[in-house]
Amino acid sequence: MHYLSTRGGDEKLSFEEAILQGLAPNGGLYIPAQVPELPENWENDWANLPFDQLSYEITKLFVPASEIPPNDLKLLINRSYSTFRHSSRTPITQVDSHRFILELFHGPTFAFKDVALQFLGNLFEYFLNRRNARKSANDARDKLTIVGATSGDTGSAAIYGVRGKQDISIFILHPKNRVSPIQEAQMTTVLDSNVHNCAVKGTFDDCQDIVKSLFSDKPFNDKHKLGAVNSINWARILSQITYYFYSYLQAKKQTPAHSHIQFVVPTGNFGDILAGFYAKKLGLPSQPMVIATNANDILTRFWRTGVYEKHDSSQHVQAQDSAVEAAQGSSDGKQAVGGVKATLSPAMDILVSSNFERLLWYIVLESMVDGDQLAASRQVNEWMNELKLHGRFQVPQAALNVARRDFTATSVSDEETTQTIKQYFSHPRPGYSSYTVDPHTAVGLKAAADVGCNNNTYQICLATAHAAKFSEAVENALNDEASFNFQRDVLPTEFHGLMDKPRRVIDVNGIAPELTKEVIESKATEEVSQQNVGI
Ligand SMILES: *Cc1c(COP(=O)(O)O)cnc(C)c1O
Repeated sequence: MHYLSTRGGDEKLSFEEAILQGLAPNGGLYIPAQVPELPENWENDWANLPFDQLSYEITKLFVPASEIPPNDLKLLINRSYSTFRHSSRTPITQVDSHRFILELFHGPTFAFKDVALQFLGNLFEYFLNRRNARKSANDARDKLTIVGATSGDTGSAAIYGVRGKQDISIFILHPKNRVSPIQEAQMTTVLDSNVHNCAVKGTFDDCQDIVKSLFSDKPFNDKHKLGAVNSINWARILSQITYYFYSYLQAKKQTPAHSHIQFVVPTGNFGDILAGFYAKKLGLPSQPMVIATNANDILTRFWRTGVYEKHDSSQHVQAQDSAVEAAQGSSDGKQAVGGVKATLSPAMDILVSSNFERLLWYIVLESMVDGDQLAASRQVNEWMNELKLHGRFQVPQAALNVARRDFTATSVSDEETTQTIKQYFSHPRPGYSSYTVDPHTAVGLKAAADVGCNNNTYQICLATAHAAKFSEAVENALNDEASFNFQRDVLPTEFHGLMDKPRRVIDVNGIAPELTKEVIESKATEEVSQQNVGI
């Protein structure tokens, strides 16, 4: 098993190289050279495996034993999920005769990103330990400096993934005063000496631009060995495949024989649902998966038209709307920046979906007569260039047909999101309990209802965050429900007192990349001098 870039070239990377590199030098994303085969009797053999063991069975298909010996891989996986609060790690709950919620929020930061980032943090540590163990005492140790931008969820999950780990330091840039108070507190109250939160005077896009410019600064990158934790990292996709199989196997026990399963996924950067796509390619039986987007609906538009386009050129009214929003600032103080609309489900507020490129590679390959991998990469390369130059590209009908075979897409408004939160809390289906959903999960539930399902099909809707993480949207939706009490019903004990804990944060007073570089340089020097005096 080796890894190659979606944009071609003769790179053939090991798993370790693909994970440590993150992004290919030609701008492409790493994908496995082939999709492995499942063991023949997987459905029986895996039916009763606990989550961690199932994760091992799936992960080892993509990671040769010569790279990570089986026992090491098992330990690494167990360690990653021992931090979860639920013994099933990702349990399902039935909320309707034909609908389950897959709870992905039982990790340390209460969002689905923990599933991947707990694993990725341990992988980084494993690879570094192994490299350093081979060195003699006088050699400089291999280190990794993780740099990432966040509008909320990625930052805290990444910080919890690597806090306290040797030879790794992490710098997370967030736009100052523009992330939710709970998310800011989750990040900045982690006081481990290898964790550095940078509050940048600017927007999320400014933070992302700074990160990009650090990564492309070769001397700086070579010196600090930058590592990526965003969802372009293959390990994030890989580790998410498990919960598709796990929830499928659980749901099958609770539904009639010969029933069908359909996954519904609240989607932003296409990382979560791409794992579902790999599950399906491996052989997991699933109806076309539902891509649920908010008003930032580039994916829904693509599935409708075959055009992948940053700005919706068919709707000038919307463009005006976002200009007005940008001028006024939206209700929660965020602004529509560069065409991104600020919604109640902020973790899905994107202009383009970075992982869509991986799917594109497969749909091109499968739609070509006699297509080969190199031809697919050439085509993807061409389209990504078009996107960069003109903000759009269009795929031929054959490719769109392949995309529609595996997915359907639908977009949900803020109004509908609020209504759905209300519905699941106030009007549960007869025989089912009231359930408080977060706004992202609500987008998925509404999309599930819109798509509908027949008697023989059961939907599994991914719950990507705990309701307490997005308290504003949840409280606003439910504040006129007499029986609703946020503190009592929603707030987990882990969040009690969070806002009052001591914090550590570095102010970065501008968007020039030099300012962030200075911070990283000075912290790196500090860490070296601490080591020299043996602290
Ligand atoms: C990141 C995130 C999403 C979007 O996931 P993608 O992998 O980017 O599609 C949805 N919901 C929540 C709560 C998230 O944190």
